Amino acid sequence: MGVFEAIGTDSHEEVLFGVDHESGLRTIIAIHSTSLGPALGGTRFFPYDDEVAALRDVLRLSKGMTLKSAAAGLDLGGGKAVIIGDPATLRSEPLIRAYGRVVDSLGGRYVTAADVGTTTDDMVLIAKETPWVSGLPFSQGGSGDPSPATARGVMASFRAIGERLWGSDDLSGRRIAVQGIGKVGVDLVRRLTEAGAETIVTDTNPDAMAHAVETYGSKAVSLDDIYDVECDIFSPCALGATLNAETIPRFRSVAIAGCANNQLAVDMDIERIVDRGILYAPDFVVNAGGVINIAAESGGYSAERAGVMVDGIYDNLVGIFETADRDGVNTHDAAMRFAQRRIDRVGSLRLRRRSGEK
Ligand code: NAD
Repeated sequence: MGVFEAIGTDSHEEVLFGVDHESGLRTIIAIHSTSLGPALGGTRFFPYDDEVAALRDVLRLSKGMTLKSAAAGLDLGGGKAVIIGDPATLRSEPLIRAYGRVVDSLGGRYVTAADVGTTTDDMVLIAKETPWVSGLPFSQGGSGDPSPATARGVMASFRAIGERLWGSDDLSGRRIAVQGIGKVGVDLVRRLTEAGAETIVTDTNPDAMAHAVETYGSKAVSLDDIYDVECDIFSPCALGATLNAETIPRFRSVAIAGCANNQLAVDMDIERIVDRGILYAPDFVVNAGGVINIAAESGGYSAERAGVMVDGIYDNLVGIFETADRDGVNTHDAAMRFAQRRIDRVGSLRLRRRSGEK
């Protein structure tokens, strides 16, 4: 498959390939849209099977970032980057700094952050090469690891679901099945426990399971049994595509909401969920806490202000549910419309700003 064929027709603005032979850097940065502002998105460091797989991933993820920021009401566009290789063996200071120079070459059209395989320490190295980096540690004036903010946003979503389904945002006594108790999932389980909810968890990592059982009294089930758990909300917090033709008929939950990106394996899975009478909270609305937290760096980061902004996901989701009712569409399509409408209306402003003009 050729590069142009792989890029397809999703209207990405720019795709940049960067190489540094000495350090072994091979990176692809995709800018999907800068209509609402600089394209923000994390850097994924991952041992892709081949270059086409890496290209497909970065294109898909950058488009998702456009929707996520737009739906969250942020003045940010969508971008993403991948570094091809195993971070456990390939990561080095020269490689990360070489990558920082590739980011710098885009002059601020793309702003990077941590993602799967990269950390705040990597962001510190990137910051030596370019100002276009976010998610630096608190000690450097940044917003740190976004995972707790993402978990906070998922909790706000659960409360919006509670209000809609049960007329109360009180989560005490609710049963929540959490698939994946990594950085976000474990903080979510902590917050749920504090809110008086019961948690049923699964993870490929037995240590993570043992921690949740011992610390939060979670009930642990096998990787496959999680789909059959009778619960109020099923929360996908591991990988994408776990809502699919095989799993959806098995769900015994009333609602689905979680932090994983791209939860629907294919678009028509939303129809399968609707047919089952399950309320679906769209992933890119639910998991926007991390990017909102990063956006809060603008003007000087304050954890308190960021928290209030993240809690706004409650209202965003209520708005999506209302749009779905009003337009007679499913919640996924309602969220897409909501995001696209904002891109079209704000992104197409042609009047120039005069303040700060040089
Ligand atoms: P993480 O890597 O820390 O956690 C993922 C967890 O899922 C790990 O504990 C892993 O062992 C487990 N896992 C892997 N395969 C599994 C499977 N088949 N079944 C059950 N568990 C499995 O990642 P994270 O930062 O917690 O993010 C979780 C998801 O949320 C990812 O899809 C990520 O892209 C998305 N997300 C994260 C953030 C954030 O702020 N960290 C923001 C937005 C979206």
